[in-house]
Amino acid sequence: MIKCKILFILLFFIITTSCSNSSNNAFEDQSFAMGTIITQQIYGNDSKKVSDEVNTKIHELESIMTINAPGGEIDKLNNSAGDGSWNTLNKETIYVLKKAIKFSDLSEGAFDITIGPLVKKWNISAENPQVPNDSEVKSLINLTNYKDILIDEQNLQARLARKGQIVDLGGIAKGYAADQAISIYKKHGITSAYINLGGNVSVLGGKPDGSPWIVGIQNPRQPIGRYIGTLKIRDKTIVTSGDYERYFIKDNIRYHHILNPKTGYPADSGLISTTIITGLSVDADALSTATFVLGLDKGRKLVEGIEGVEAIFVTTNKEIFITSGLKNIFTFDDESKEFKYVKER
Ligand code: AMP
Ligand code: MG
Repeated sequence: MIKCKILFILLFFIITTSCSNSSNNAFEDQSFAMGTIITQQIYGNDSKKVSDEVNTKIHELESIMTINAPGGEIDKLNNSAGDGSWNTLNKETIYVLKKAIKFSDLSEGAFDITIGPLVKKWNISAENPQVPNDSEVKSLINLTNYKDILIDEQNLQARLARKGQIVDLGGIAKGYAADQAISIYKKHGITSAYINLGGNVSVLGGKPDGSPWIVGIQNPRQPIGRYIGTLKIRDKTIVTSGDYERYFIKDNIRYHHILNPKTGYPADSGLISTTIITGLSVDADALSTATFVLGLDKGRKLVEGIEGVEAIFVTTNKEIFITSGLKNIFTFDDESKEFKYVKER
């Protein structure tokens, strides 16, 4: 029996600040875009107007960057793959493409947005997803190579080198959108806010009382809102990738949405979730996907080599590892008693 489950919210927030404190002008908003629920909590004047502006921006980004948006920039790029023509794209799309290439280089191809043909073939979110046959998977691996994304930055143009190639920004676009939300808050003079785009969390400042935001890290084997620990953060983003977000189970095997570009199959690196904590959500989003594919040792090495980036890894044998910079801000708190926090390795 095939079971497909889509979980929209990956991180559970514990908001300890009282929302009824009118002097703080707390405003909460929920909307739906980029295939996920978006939650905003904003403190300050004109919060409703600001949250509307953020929602408008996210919808705009969705129409530009989503693979499923006909006529959008990524759609144009994909449709012209291999025909030699350059597509004029906006600055934001070029920025995200360049970021994606940077993290592909850093992860030696574990993160690769030209994974599109394989994502389409697996179609994990379909009503009745099927395991594709091995020869189809193997032939599509050949189309996956981020070095085939050609960018002429000066003229804001890009093209894909080979016919059939497809760029899929599903592993990075939400992070970029979260960064844009934070910019909009700042532009309006907001100093305390959070946004959660289906697990891509960004917070601006601390809570209005000056204390840090407390963000729960989703327990990857329990329903949404059950967590394995909490992080105290200010002016940071927290992004999780996990095998529980989108998957189906067939013959007792979990087929999830994060693919290993080298095998064409769902990544099987010994991790069930990775969480990245850093300043820019676009970076965190790419890195959470990349480290999930790389596994604990290589993933840890990658994040430890980048300044200002921290991570939490949860392994298939239910151990939790954190990078050293989180020691004072991570609290292990696993109600399920399933997980073991490994303090030192
Ligand atoms: P995330 O939830 O951020 O880890 O992103 C997962 C999404 O990114 C998938 O649903 C695909 O759309 C896409 N994706 C899957 N595997 C990869 C990969 N190895 N590199 C880049 N994007 C990927
Ligand atoms: Mg990602």
